[in-house]
Amino acid sequence: MSELLRIEALSVRFALRTGWLRPERHVQAVSDVSLYVRRGETLAVVGESGSGKTSLARAVVGLAPAWRGQIHFDGRDVLGGDRTALRRLRREVQMVFQDPFGSLDPRLSVQDIVAEPLRIHRTHDASAQRKRVLELLDQVGLPAAAAQRYPHQFSGGQRQRIAIARALAPQPQLIIADEPLSALDVSIQSQVMNLMSELRARLGLSYLLVSHDFAAVHHLADRIAVMYLGRIVETAPVDDLFHAPAHPYTAALLASVPRVGNGKRRPGSALRGELPSPVNPPPGCAFHPRCPRAAERCRVEAPLPLALSAGRSVACHFPLGPAEAGAAP
Ligand code: SF4
Repeated sequence: MSELLRIEALSVRFALRTGWLRPERHVQAVSDVSLYVRRGETLAVVGESGSGKTSLARAVVGLAPAWRGQIHFDGRDVLGGDRTALRRLRREVQMVFQDPFGSLDPRLSVQDIVAEPLRIHRTHDASAQRKRVLELLDQVGLPAAAAQRYPHQFSGGQRQRIAIARALAPQPQLIIADEPLSALDVSIQSQVMNLMSELRARLGLSYLLVSHDFAAVHHLADRIAVMYLGRIVETAPVDDLFHAPAHPYTAALLASVPRVGNGKRRPGSALRGELPSPVNPPPGCAFHPRCPRAAERCRVEAPLPLALSAGRSVACHFPLGPAEAGAAP
C-alpha cells in the first residue's frame, strides 16, 4: 500500500493570553510528530484527554495552527504553498467530529447539510446534488425521506450517520474521525463501527482515527500511534501493540481497560497521577513523573524513537520486553 498522508516533524502551538507588555507565551500541543497513513488503512491515534491527538488531527485539515513541520498529501507538500495540493486536501480529506449534536447545523435540512461540501467544491449542480444526497443517505443506511428532515428529528447514531454522509459527499480518500463514537450509546457504537468498516471496504477509504476507546481501536485500526503530552511514544501494528506494548505508558493505558475479547484486566499497574500541563512539561522523558521504570537518565534525557521491528517504534530508554508486557493470553 502506498502512502496517502505523511506528517513530518509537525508541531502545533497555540498562543496563550498574556497581559500588555508581557512577552508572548505559547503552549505546544503537538511536538515533532511524524507519522503516515497508507491508502486503504486505518491508523488510530490514542492517548489520554489532553495528549494532543485532537490538535494533531485538526492541524491536518487546517483547523489547528501547524507551527513547524510538513504535511504531504498524496506526495504533495500542503504547507509549502502548493495551492493545488491544498485544494485537493480540502476536498479529499474530510473530518467527522465527536459530537453529532453540535457538528450539524440545526437550522439546515439533512439535504442541505449533506450537500454543503458539493456546493463548496462546486462539483454538482442543484439537481445532481439532490441525487447525490440520496445516494449518500443510502450508503450510510438512512432512508431517502431523511433528506427533508432536520437534525433534531434523529437519534445520536443517526446524526453520526448524517455526519458521515456529509464527509463522504466530495468522495474523499481519507476521513479523519475524532472520537466518532464517544458521544453515542454503547448499543449504537458497534453499528457505527460496522458502518465505518463497510465504507472503508466498499470505497477504499483510509481513516485517521482519534480515539481513547481501545475496543473501537482494536475493531477498526491496522496500526496505532500512542501520544503522550504532544509526542508519539509508540507506533505498532494493532495486534503487536495489544499483545506486547513496549512503552510503559502504552502498557499502563492497556492495564486500565478490560482486555478486548475476554473482558479481564491485563497484568501491570494502571496509570497513576495526572497528565502534566503542556505549558510546563517535565524535563527529559515527559512521562517520567508517572513511570514505574523511571531512572536518572529519564529525568534528564528525552528518549528518541527507536525502531524495534518493521512498522514498530518506541521512544523509551528502557522499553518493555514481551514477557514484561504481560503478553501471555
Ligand atoms: Fe519510563 Fe524512562 Fe521510558 Fe520514560 S524513558 S517511559 S521514564 S522508562
